[in-house]
Amino acid sequence: MDLIIRHASLPDGRRDIDIAVQGGRIIAVDHALPMQASQEIDAAGDLVSPPFVDAHFHMDATLSYGQPRVNQSGTLLEGIALWGELKPLLTQDALVERAMQYCDWAVGRGLLAIRSHVDICDDRLLAVEALLEVKKRVAPYIDLQLVAFPQDGIFRSATAFGNLQRAMAMGVDVVGGIPHFERTMADGAESVRLLCEFAAQKGYRVDMHCDESDDPMSRHIETLAFHTQRLGMQGRVTGSHLTSMHSMDNYYVSKLLPLIREAGVSAIANPLINITLQGRHDSYPKRRGMTRVAEMLASGITVAFGQDCTMDPWYSLGSGDMLEVAHMGLHVAQMTGQQAMQQCYAAVTEMPAQILGLDNYGIYAGANADLVILDAGSTIEAIRLRAARRFVIRRGKVISQSPAASASLSLSGRPALADFRLRS
Ligand SMILES: [Zn+2]
Repeated sequence: MDLIIRHASLPDGRRDIDIAVQGGRIIAVDHALPMQASQEIDAAGDLVSPPFVDAHFHMDATLSYGQPRVNQSGTLLEGIALWGELKPLLTQDALVERAMQYCDWAVGRGLLAIRSHVDICDDRLLAVEALLEVKKRVAPYIDLQLVAFPQDGIFRSATAFGNLQRAMAMGVDVVGGIPHFERTMADGAESVRLLCEFAAQKGYRVDMHCDESDDPMSRHIETLAFHTQRLGMQGRVTGSHLTSMHSMDNYYVSKLLPLIREAGVSAIANPLINITLQGRHDSYPKRRGMTRVAEMLASGITVAFGQDCTMDPWYSLGSGDMLEVAHMGLHVAQMTGQQAMQQCYAAVTEMPAQILGLDNYGIYAGANADLVILDAGSTIEAIRLRAARRFVIRRGKVISQSPAASASLSLSGRPALADFRLRS
């Protein structure tokens, strides 16, 4: 046996579980396994989780904070303008270097699968080439899935559809779109039809930036669900952001959610970005702008939380920490019930793994031995503490370690150490 992890707590609530690993796969999960292994890790009751998965990211823009200048207003529109200034200055080496640095951060945070959009509106397709190179380089430790993203609109930008087809032929995995950014509602709907038909014909998955707007009349998700069921693409299509749903009429939403469910369309909310970029035209009351996460989950729709941005033209913060994303999502959606908090953890693990279509993901005999041991006893505690990732394991090998969080106290008569966890 290569590795045994002893005394693990699992995300589903099972406790005192041993996990045996051989040849990069989990081969047994049970109480007190009788085997021996060349490496043993005593989790001592700590949470052992499958790795974090980010279903929505922009790796071509990440860590470009301050280039060529910072976003002074912190708004979406200044961010798009800033990206337009930065694009002609990009070089492939710099793109690769920044993405590789982010991937290092991701590994340290136990984030081992990422779906990144890549802007295809630059006719040179520099960013596509760069991220395909990064995908190859990080493949031993990160599953990187790329989406061809027409940032400037598939019709609004004259060369976008041709560029998108070229990017797919070069090896990009998923077809993207941005219907709410086309010139008219009709063009938006037409872009959804065109891109879904193209993807269906070629067998690609689809993930569109959809209705990232406070306009309650932005209803491209309805069109996306329609074409998904019409073309038999159930389970392969995702609507990212869907922020307009926050502002939609409740009666309309009561019709919409079953249509999304019937079409098997998944949803991705990006809580850090939605709460900062939406509602900007409001005075008070000020909308939160995040889509209806709890309501979609209750309707049986798969919903993930994504990071979206880290230190780029749209967002000056972030660090690849999906527990920070889950923490923000939980607060913005008011998902404070016990089951709801656990769903927030699933929204950065199991749910995005389903959206990406990852094989052999999870903790069961036969799954890939991709695991994270956290400095927390449960999923809820992991979110509360944004717990340290003590060990990050890929295919049975430890690839990152972090110390547990604690403070050394100097209070007479009190314990010498605080680790922020309740002990009974
Ligand atoms: Zn995005």
